[in-house]
Amino acid sequence: MKETLEKIFDIPFLVENGVDSYPWVRITPKGEKGQMFSIKVVNRADVRLVIDFEPQTFSAALVSSMGRSDGEKRAVFCDSVRLQMARGGDVSMKINGIPVVPYDSSTWPSAEWKRIEFQTIVILPADIAGEARQVKEKMREWGCLAMGTFLSLVRIDSVERNPLVDPSLPMLQTEGDRFSVVVNKYERSTVNRFLCIARYGVACSVCGFDFKKKYGAMGDGFIHVHHVIPISKLGPGYVIDPEKDLIPVCPNCHAMLHRKDPPYMPEELRQIINRERQAYDCLALGSGCSMVAENDEGCGEDK
Ligand SMILES: [Zn+2]
Ligand SMILES: [Zn+2]
Repeated sequence: MKETLEKIFDIPFLVENGVDSYPWVRITPKGEKGQMFSIKVVNRADVRLVIDFEPQTFSAALVSSMGRSDGEKRAVFCDSVRLQMARGGDVSMKINGIPVVPYDSSTWPSAEWKRIEFQTIVILPADIAGEARQVKEKMREWGCLAMGTFLSLVRIDSVERNPLVDPSLPMLQTEGDRFSVVVNKYERSTVNRFLCIARYGVACSVCGFDFKKKYGAMGDGFIHVHHVIPISKLGPGYVIDPEKDLIPVCPNCHAMLHRKDPPYMPEELRQIINRERQAYDCLALGSGCSMVAENDEGCGEDK
């Protein structure tokens, strides 16, 4: 689980697990001692998972900074909550002891945040009860989701830098062993990437290519994430919508999308691929194919 988390978020984690009344796992981004937060997933009798946000003893500054998060961070947080709900999670949240709508930041208090309570309850599908491996997989999946939700809201200033930084990510300026100012951009790409993959999976959303199917274990989890609307074109105040703005694409389709500026829309590229495929099929079949001529969508001009 530690490995998976570090691969997804590219920061180091502490993963602990044990059994009290029920089996549990607790994941914590490594950072200043006592000033971070954990996500704890408890497996209640194979029937449900209870996932809690657990601030550490000296996390007041962190909680307060969450209360000052900007619109984009909040949008990503809310989007991530909606993703949890779409997967069957029952999500509840209190700020300073007051219940709020977790996916609607307009209901969050503007006063300084002193306390956050956040819990997701998931009923496990009946057919995996007792299947230790599948239950564990569910615990991992929901732990990652909740971790992604909260990483979207924090500045990770106090998190130690992972020496194994993904070279495809933007260069980081580092201050000793700590993230510095560039962290914002970095966090965004990490959390957004996670949300994009959690929602759409790792197959190319244009052509369907799946690296794991082709290359086995070494291709597992490999995919590019494309911004449908280029970041440079986003006006000030534009809040990214991870559901619509980010899609997983294979490097081939990614390169083709960027053959013009602004890039092709994914749907355009899909149409181009289909048109070429049909034209090719017709060539291969020889004459007599009326399909291309009749199908405006397949053969028409670029729209
Ligand atoms: Zn592709
Ligand atoms: Zn792109």
